Amino acid sequence: MNEFSNDEGLSSVKKGRHRKANRKIARERIHVLFKQAITLFAVETDLARRYVDLARKIGMRYKVRLPREYRWMVCKHCKDFLFPGKTCRTRIQQRREPHIVVTCLRCGGYNRVPLNERRSKM
Ligand SMILES: [Zn+2]
Repeated sequence: MNEFSNDEGLSSVKKGRHRKANRKIARERIHVLFKQAITLFAVETDLARRYVDLARKIGMRYKVRLPREYRWMVCKHCKDFLFPGKTCRTRIQQRREPHIVVTCLRCGGYNRVPLNERRSKM
């Protein structure tokens, strides 16, 4: 009687597990893409930008948030790659909650990066 519904339950568990594995791979790919983008930026700016764009798209497709250490490197407004001293300006604000203000030089938008996290010594 209940066999069918049981089967359905099992297969959906399986699917869930599979999706989790995909997200893990997605996270690894995002990590690699950002690392390559950072090393490539000085010589291959456009390629580096494309890598960051790709990392963002992977994150969207698998509903994976960008790792904290890379999140601030993407402009919230124009989605450009924010590379300190090149495509953005950084300023540390110590008042109230310490944070970094990252100004995108492409669109002029501000991006706030809180500093009061566990790994605040960077
Ligand atoms: Zn921008």
